[in-house]
Order: sequence, then structure tokens, then C-alpha cells
Amino acid sequence: MTSSTSPTRKLFIKTYGCQMNVYDSERMAEALAPSGYEIADSAEGADLILLNTCHIREKAAEKVYSELGRLKALKAENPDLKIGVAGCVAQAEGDEILRRQPLVDLVVGPQSYHRLPELEARARQGAKALDTDFPEEDKFDRLGGRARARRGPTAFLTVQEGCDKFCAFCVVPYTRGAEVSRPAEKVLAEARDLVERGVREITLLGQNVNAYHGAGTDGDWGLARLIRELAAIDGLDRLRYTTSHPNDMEDDLIAAHGEVPELMPYLHLPVQSGSDRVLKAMNRKHTAESYLRLIDRIRAARPDILMSGDFIVGFPGETEADFEDTLALVREVGYGQCYSFKYSPRPGTPAAERAHVAEEVKAERLARLQALLAEQQEDAQQAMVGKSVGVLFEKAGRMPGQLVGKSDHLQAVHVEAPETLLGRIARVDITAAAPNSLAGRLSAK
Ligand code: SAM
Ligand code: SF4
Repeated sequence: MTSSTSPTRKLFIKTYGCQMNVYDSERMAEALAPSGYEIADSAEGADLILLNTCHIREKAAEKVYSELGRLKALKAENPDLKIGVAGCVAQAEGDEILRRQPLVDLVVGPQSYHRLPELEARARQGAKALDTDFPEEDKFDRLGGRARARRGPTAFLTVQEGCDKFCAFCVVPYTRGAEVSRPAEKVLAEARDLVERGVREITLLGQNVNAYHGAGTDGDWGLARLIRELAAIDGLDRLRYTTSHPNDMEDDLIAAHGEVPELMPYLHLPVQSGSDRVLKAMNRKHTAESYLRLIDRIRAARPDILMSGDFIVGFPGETEADFEDTLALVREVGYGQCYSFKYSPRPGTPAAERAHVAEEVKAERLARLQALLAEQQEDAQQAMVGKSVGVLFEKAGRMPGQLVGKSDHLQAVHVEAPETLLGRIARVDITAAAPNSLAGRLSAK
């Protein structure tokens, strides 16, 4: 969408990190559309390049600085090119980025995206523009409605931001601020709008999405109530949510997994460690045992649910025995797909000040954990062979006549199918499994 007064300019956004950044990038593009910006597929030839950054681990921030280094050549070719840094690195390092990388014109934190048009205009006039405030106003209100264009069948929708948990390793409470939930009516309106534009599946996002408590039509709504209301929207067939904290898995949310057919049987529920000693040092406020019993209750409500999680190895003070407790927990749960990381000290977080586990020990533990998780993932994939699953087709596959979609359990599925099924859900009989994808054929009926 281009305003009649501005010439068309090209905007390239490179997104790092989590799904919330993917959502934010879409919203930034929409905020800049009235200034004449259209999305471009590559940095070459762009008039504005935004790096939407992630600060969760050290390497992520370093990647941003090396990417900025690479952009130097483009700026030399086109002196009118403006370069901006958004996201959590922008929030955490603000001025430092402008000092360290003179080619950056604009720095904007995650709570200030509605101010992008103004910041871009300042940058165009040759000023360095910086906004890393946590403003009082609701950025979602100021960002306004979503663009009207038709879009693919899946979408992210941020319902909650920030975190009050303060895990000892994590920068999120500092970069994204305190927990804030969007009013339920705003979420429902955005969801209806997405459905009108062809969306069939929505993933609700939040740093702590199951801590959602938004104003509803009859008082405060938790995530379970929000999910039930969203599920009633005609044409919205699938709902997911991520990421959750074990302590916020309330009874009504667990019950929703058994009662709301639109809520898909996949849950990302990070535990981080299987050692109570480490969990305490991480300030997680749950134990390995309480996590395991929670999973029992979730599986009682939805027996076929596929569990996912996050793990950190080599947290300060983690011993070999602690790490073995993590392996034991993984064996007991049996995950479908997980993310695992070496502990990375983040400046300003309590754990960064503690004595660190040696790098080679972290690497060796991560390799062992990942080998076990890969085995479990393969088992979960193999277990799908012979089953009939619902698949939402999202795009053409690499082979002619093939479409790719996602199963109810969020596994990629390749199927020979007509293009008319794009954006629709069909039953598929799974015939083969690879570690990261499934293959199948359309069910006869
Ligand atoms: N809110 C979610 C939760 O409570 O688990 C996770 C949010 S965080 C963006 C995603 C994951 O990054 C975490 O679950 C954790 O495993 C990992 N992570 C966060 N800080 C980290 C650090 N300092 N070093 C390594 N991994 C980290
Ligand atoms: Fe970070 Fe998640 Fe802990 Fe919040 S709950 S501090 S986002 S790991």
C-alpha cells in the first residue's frame, strides 16, 4: 500500500530471533507503508534497511554487528540508503550502536514501532534518530489496523509482551519490559481481520503468553477464555500459542486442550533444566517433579499432544550430576521437538556475575543432550507413519505437483496435491517420515 503523496521506496527488513520479531517486522512494514515504503526481498537496492534484532544469546548480537559491517558497501553505493536497528539489541544497546556503527541512522526499541514514520523522517533529514522508551501509550493502538492485503493461511498475533519472571539468565524482562496483555476485544478484532484476509491458523504470541490477562467484555480474561472466544470465529480453524511458562499453565488452560478442537495438539513448554538445584539457581520457581506432573495433567486432557521445550546446558554451577538429571527428565517426558542452547552470559542479568562452566564442557553436554533430543524427535516422526492427520497447505513444494503444509502437530508434511488445496485443510495419510518432515498422500475420503 502506497500513499498517493509519497514516491515508492523499498524497505528490506531482516528478522532475527523469535516469532514475536517476525510479527513485529510485519507491523513495522505496515507502519511504514503510508510513508511510501514497499517490502523488498533483498537489501540490494533498498532505500531503508531495518535489522530486527534479538538479544537472547551473545552470538545473536554479534551477528547484528557483522551484518552491519556487510551493509557498509551498500551504503557506499547509495548514500541515500538509511539503516536502522530495531528489536531487543536496539533496546539494550541503544546509544552504543550509534557510537559503535556510524552507518546506523535509526535505532528503535520494540515498544516504539508506532513512532517509526517520524524516526524515518528524521533520519531522512540527516539526523540520528533514537527511541528506546517504554511509552505509556499502547503501541498496538498507535500502530492501527492491519494492512488489508490477502495473505497466507497462517499468522502470528501478539497478545502479550514482556515478562515479570526474571529468570536469572534472561534479558527479556529488561529488553521487553514488564508483562502487558492486550485487551481481548483488540485481539479478537485483529483475528477476525486476519481471517477475512484468508488466515486459517493463528499462533498467539507472548514472551509469557500463558500469563495473558487481558480486559474482556465481562472482566479479566485469561488465555483459556481468549482461546475459547477465538475458536468461535467462523473460518478460524486452528489455534496455537507460544511461549509458555510452566507456572502459568492454569487448570482452565489445560482443560481447553481437551475441549477446544481448534486448539492444536502441540505445546512448547520450556523447562530449561531437570535439576532442582539448577532450577532454583535459575529462579524458575518450579521443580523438575512439578513440571513432570504438569505434563501428566496436560496429557490426561489431550493424550496425543506433542511436547516441545527449551533447555539451557552449562548454567553457572551445573555439575555432571545436574546435567544427568536433565537427561533423565528428557527421557521421562519424551519430546517431539526441542530447542537447546549453551548458557550465554547476558550483561545485567544475575547469572552473568557467577562462575561459569567451561566452554568445552558446555559444548560436550549440549552435544549429548541434542543427540537424545534428535532420537526422540525421530521416534515422534516415525510414530506418525500410518496415521491420518489434518494438514493445512501453505505453499508449493520443491517437486512439481507437490504442496507443503503443517500437520496438527506442527510437523512439515509433503503431499502430491492440487494447488486448489493451498490455504485449505485436508486429511492426509502419512506414508514416510524423515527427521524434519513427513510425506503422505491425500486420504481417499
Ligand atoms: N519465556 C520463555 C520461557 O519462560 O521459557 C522463553 C523465552 S526466551 C526468548 C527463549 C529461550 O531462550 C529460553 O527458553 C531459554 O531456553 C533461552 N535463553 C534465554 N536466555 C538465555 C541465555 N542467557 N543463554 C542461553 N539460552 C537462553
Ligand atoms: Fe525469560 Fe521466559 Fe524466564 Fe521470562 S520466563 S525471564 S522470558 S526465560
